[in-house]
Amino acid sequence: MLIGVLALQGAVSEHCRALTSLNINNVKIRNLEQIKQIDGLIIPGGESTTLRKLIVNANLWEFIMKSNMPLMGTCAGAILLGKNKDETFGKMDFSIDRNYYGRQINSFEEMLEIKDYSNFRGVFIRAPAITDGGNTTPIAFCKKQIVGCTDGKNMALTFHPELTNDNYFHKLWLEGMK
Ligand code: GLN
Repeated sequence: MLIGVLALQGAVSEHCRALTSLNINNVKIRNLEQIKQIDGLIIPGGESTTLRKLIVNANLWEFIMKSNMPLMGTCAGAILLGKNKDETFGKMDFSIDRNYYGRQINSFEEMLEIKDYSNFRGVFIRAPAITDGGNTTPIAFCKKQIVGCTDGKNMALTFHPELTNDNYFHKLWLEGMK
């Protein structure tokens, strides 16, 4: 199995580190040739408007849109997987609002509420919020809000799991692919 990390913007090498620590082969994805080789893709955080443009410019938008491969989106990546007033892939049935907690200065860290797991510190950087979980399964909460959800093989997280050393969510996503 080979997992790709979209490498156009954001915390790319941190996601690669998490995958490597789980003994998962991984590759940074910048073009069509590379994306055709992989079995799953992580779309990292960054800035969703810019990220969208970079994906289109790299000629990857249509490929991702049509593909059935498992996706994990973190923060800006989660925005692109859900439903927003801006254009997204809309691959997962949840609604997400950008910059929900305010400006960059309102970024925060907070322990998450997760079923059957504890002590996961969520890093929220100008994070969005899932305002309606739709038909996805919520997997993590913070301040009573859904901050993580799955629909089987896809996972969206409004925080940055790659910025902590706990690979719980990466592992969960990989297990969901089986
Ligand atoms: N605020 C960014 C956006 O709306 C997301 C921030 C992030 O990915 N850390 O796209």
